[in-house]
Amino acid sequence: MKRRVLLAAAAVGIVAAPLGVLAQAYPTKPISIIVPFAAGGPTDALARILGARMSEALGQPVIIDNVAGAGGTIGVNKAAKAAPDGYTVLFAHMGTLAVNIALYKTLPYDSKKDLEPVGLGGTNPMVLVVKKDLPAKNFAEFMAYVKANQKKAQYGMAGIGAASHLGGLMLNGMMKVDVLEIPYKGTAPALNDLVSGQFDYMVDQAVNVLPQIKSGNIRALGVSTLKRLPQLPDVPTIDEAGLKGYEVTIWNGFFVPKGTPKDIITKLNGALVAALSDEKIRVRLTELAVDLPAAKDATPEAMRDQLKASIDKWVPTIKAAGIQPQ
Ligand code: ASP
Repeated sequence: MKRRVLLAAAAVGIVAAPLGVLAQAYPTKPISIIVPFAAGGPTDALARILGARMSEALGQPVIIDNVAGAGGTIGVNKAAKAAPDGYTVLFAHMGTLAVNIALYKTLPYDSKKDLEPVGLGGTNPMVLVVKKDLPAKNFAEFMAYVKANQKKAQYGMAGIGAASHLGGLMLNGMMKVDVLEIPYKGTAPALNDLVSGQFDYMVDQAVNVLPQIKSGNIRALGVSTLKRLPQLPDVPTIDEAGLKGYEVTIWNGFFVPKGTPKDIITKLNGALVAALSDEKIRVRLTELAVDLPAAKDATPEAMRDQLKASIDKWVPTIKAAGIQPQ
């Protein structure tokens, strides 16, 4: 018996020692950040901006791995199943980690059990954007247009459970319209098609659509927050323009596979805090309407609480709206 205990302890020692050493030396090679959407979109843009500064803080290259498809679930699943050694980090959002629990009958991962939070990477308002030559000139005309063109009007989104899906679902649900859904691997390719007039409208993060609105290639008819955005002072909130109570804001956050040593999470969080405290990054992202958390709000614990709060809010909201999982 005694001998067995000793043997077991020795076995634990053999396993534990390399992990401890690994955490101390970390990082000794490039780190991959999985972005579960196409390159060039909002999730990708934020991951690249924050990731570049995190790379400096960590002293190792950070490589962005766009694993797009199925509303971001393929990328999140790859991260959830990766080795918990700190070399695979996930940058995902409220859609892929909370909202889609209500939108899929089954998911290959459990965002609360299979991932460990590192910290919040930013909060993003969304904007209802339409193709340039859509006849509707304001939100009331847009509603009238979509109602008159049911089953013909088309909206773009980045797959089931994406932020743009949630934004569109809530909008269409509150307008009580039945329209065609055009799925993309991210809102970067969707935006290209909206600019060239391939579909009618989309609800996407401001960080992605603001430059095209400013260039006049698409038009903004409403914002998803309860307050107007300083970047678009003439664009009403969707709530004030006619859909009382419409409010969708998307957070992005960093996560690692469950089982990643705590010291590694602390190092990654330190690099994230360095990026969030960088004045150049704050100015640049504030211009693009991204709300960056203060360092004290970027802890793993705060990210865990935010994830739980979003699941608790959106899963019942989507069920109450009568939206069936697929
Ligand atoms: N903004 C997209 C979404 O709808 C994802 C992306 O392309 O980053 O979730």
